[in-house]
Amino acid sequence: MLVWFIALFVIFLIVIIAGIVNGIRQSSAQIRAKEEYDRYLIRQQIEQEEKLRQEERNRLAEARRFRDSFPIVSQTKEIQELWSNPCDHDSIDQIKRQKRINETRPIQINRDTLDGIFVSSRNDLIYKTNLIDCDCPDYMERMIPCKHMYRLFYDLEHIDTVNTHILNIDPSVRIAFREFPQKTQIQFVNIARFLNNALLYNVNTDIKRLIKSGFLISHKENLDYAPLLFEMTKDAILLSLVKRGISGFYASWSKVRLIDWILQNQHDYLEAQFKSYTRLEIGEIVTDWVHGIKDAYRRSLYSYSNYLR
Ligand SMILES: [Zn+2]
Repeated sequence: MLVWFIALFVIFLIVIIAGIVNGIRQSSAQIRAKEEYDRYLIRQQIEQEEKLRQEERNRLAEARRFRDSFPIVSQTKEIQELWSNPCDHDSIDQIKRQKRINETRPIQINRDTLDGIFVSSRNDLIYKTNLIDCDCPDYMERMIPCKHMYRLFYDLEHIDTVNTHILNIDPSVRIAFREFPQKTQIQFVNIARFLNNALLYNVNTDIKRLIKSGFLISHKENLDYAPLLFEMTKDAILLSLVKRGISGFYASWSKVRLIDWILQNQHDYLEAQFKSYTRLEIGEIVTDWVHGIKDAYRRSLYSYSNYLR
């Protein structure tokens, strides 16, 4: 009996000890796993911090690269102060603006006055930019350098290799242009881009102003009125003839025959009817600049690959 009892007791002990040993083994495995996990987390954290530091280094290097490209021009103290403080230019938002300078379209860059004129690529509005401020909405809202100011800074140095026609515009032209209302400025840029010497233009107040300043030249001789007549309806032509007391035509004529007859026989009518129309030519004082404006549109997105990579 006692033997059985001892045997059972030994078995009981073995089971207990095995349980304890197993428990210890398991918990030490858990501890090891936990330690490993902690090490993993720390490693992750270090990697993340290193990544952030690297990004910060890249960002600063990029900003420095941009500032290093700033032109050595006769800068005033105010300009130097604005452009020498890295904090103003090294933020992520400002670097974005620096990267977007190839979206802008300069049509004037003046080295002597350190300013420029930009056409908005979105709505054709005209912005006047210098190294202190710009009248674009972005600058007006934030009062920190906009992409036009960065582009101006860049172009003051680099424009020679790009579009010399927009560089150092004659002071009289520059001043006259700046004094035009924005509507006139936009009108001029559009005429400069698309002028067709054969077409007739309706001389509105903007064109009148441009002719007066010598930006455009008006030619009244040998005008081709046919396109203007064809733009009118036949009824409108008939009505205008009657109003001017002209006879000798028939309402039953086709529009083409009617127009033909007018062009052959009614020169006085044509001059009176279209007296506000004229042929336009680019004025000599802006001929060179107009080449530059056309060029600016052609290559508005020219490559900054050397700088922006
Ligand atoms: Zn701007």
